[in-house]
Amino acid sequence: MKRIRKDSRLTFVELPPTQFGVLNGPGGFDIYSHAKLPSRAIPTLRAVMIEDGYSNTHELNPKYHGEGGKLTAKNMGDIFSSDILFLSAITRTAKQTMTLADLYRLNNQGGIIVAGGPDPTFRSDEWLNHVDIVVRGEGEATLRDLATVLSQDPSQLESVRGIQYNRKGEQVRTEPRPLLTETELGQMPHPVFDPVTRKKISTGAIELTRGCPHNCDYCAVTSMYGNVYRRKPIKWVLEEMNQVNGLGKRTFVVDDNVAPGGHKDIERLETMAEKGDKGNTKVAQITVYVARSEKLMEALRKIGVDSLCVGIESLSDETLKDLGKSSDASMNRWAIPRFRERGFFVHGMMMLGGNGDTPESLRETEEWANRNLDSVQYFTPVPIPGTRFRHRMKEEGRVLTEDWALYDAQHVLLRPVNFTPIGLQERIEEMYGSFYSIKNLKNRLRNSSRKKTTIVLSMLALSGGLKKIFNNPQSVAHKEFLRSIS
Ligand code: SF4
Repeated sequence: MKRIRKDSRLTFVELPPTQFGVLNGPGGFDIYSHAKLPSRAIPTLRAVMIEDGYSNTHELNPKYHGEGGKLTAKNMGDIFSSDILFLSAITRTAKQTMTLADLYRLNNQGGIIVAGGPDPTFRSDEWLNHVDIVVRGEGEATLRDLATVLSQDPSQLESVRGIQYNRKGEQVRTEPRPLLTETELGQMPHPVFDPVTRKKISTGAIELTRGCPHNCDYCAVTSMYGNVYRRKPIKWVLEEMNQVNGLGKRTFVVDDNVAPGGHKDIERLETMAEKGDKGNTKVAQITVYVARSEKLMEALRKIGVDSLCVGIESLSDETLKDLGKSSDASMNRWAIPRFRERGFFVHGMMMLGGNGDTPESLRETEEWANRNLDSVQYFTPVPIPGTRFRHRMKEEGRVLTEDWALYDAQHVLLRPVNFTPIGLQERIEEMYGSFYSIKNLKNRLRNSSRKKTTIVLSMLALSGGLKKIFNNPQSVAHKEFLRSIS
């Protein structure tokens, strides 16, 4: 492996989902497709490299730096001429990202390919058929050490904790790297958004914490971070708030669980509201437990949070238990109206087709969601690599496909207990149609705190959005497959 220099060209790429996982293929559409968000990890990792003196770093996201969401010939040339190509991927984007790695290798024999993110972390062996090095787990400190070794003596890769790499035909996995402490997180540089990204994104992003104290079986967050919850130091958070407010856009708080609910969280949010600029309106991801604390809900409002994404998952205690969720159905039913009464717009994330779900229980879920949520995302259970849930589903022989491009929570991937696979897929599509129907729009508008958003979402869904999600060639082909095995 060749040595790199401080002026070597370092390119960071994150590809969007595409149908069938084809590089530069037609886009994979989902409920978030209209939100133009920045990459979560790349601006931070690039900032670390810049802080360490690497003067020739670039971010390349086809959504913002390409054309029509695809990489251009110029983008490809820039990628192939890079000394190191850093690839960030989730399971859903693994196929096209591996194809890009293969193309880079064909065009640049001496270059180095590094992959990171949840999918490379949990499927490192497979990734190493396409890349030279996998960064496993949290990236900042590992990338820093990796770049140092690559610039001084690439034969010493085994000294870098948290990687797996190819060495003379064998794979070497180094000692795991401990998670960054809260203090270390506060010593990291702030994410760097290049001018093109700043201009084209519709929504800014901020990370205040990392991890989640819960440990749901199906969730990759705890597989990646353990169930260790870390709050970034308030000084860092205030600086970051100022930077993100400078973008002048609505902000998505990317944390998987921004405030589990203790005094610490309330104090932090109140300090942010007092010392920082309240700034732009925000969307945050939380659990139903937040509804137990008036002070916590009030503190979220004070920092500008007006919309909540809530992982409700189910109204069936059996399903919740089977998913390893600590909340129960009565808590879910109690919490959601409370959020709306306090003026939040509630986006409910619900998983359909668990062991406790029956045709009758989904009818009840549909009626409840139509009455109680401002927007909904009906997930199918996804056996994501690295999770206990996947392990169990594999053991039970219920995983129907390992076509990773379908791992988007919109396609049935597991054999359900009380439905045929195609029966569940069609029921989910019906429930989406019912929720976003004109008839239900009247219901939703009645209690919505953001009426314009409520109308826009229904218009997007009804004017072709749902068709794009469920009737595109990839979805149609998958439904044919589900029919054939039902
Ligand atoms: S509460 Fe949410 S983020 Fe936390 S482990 Fe469960 S699914 Fe993951």
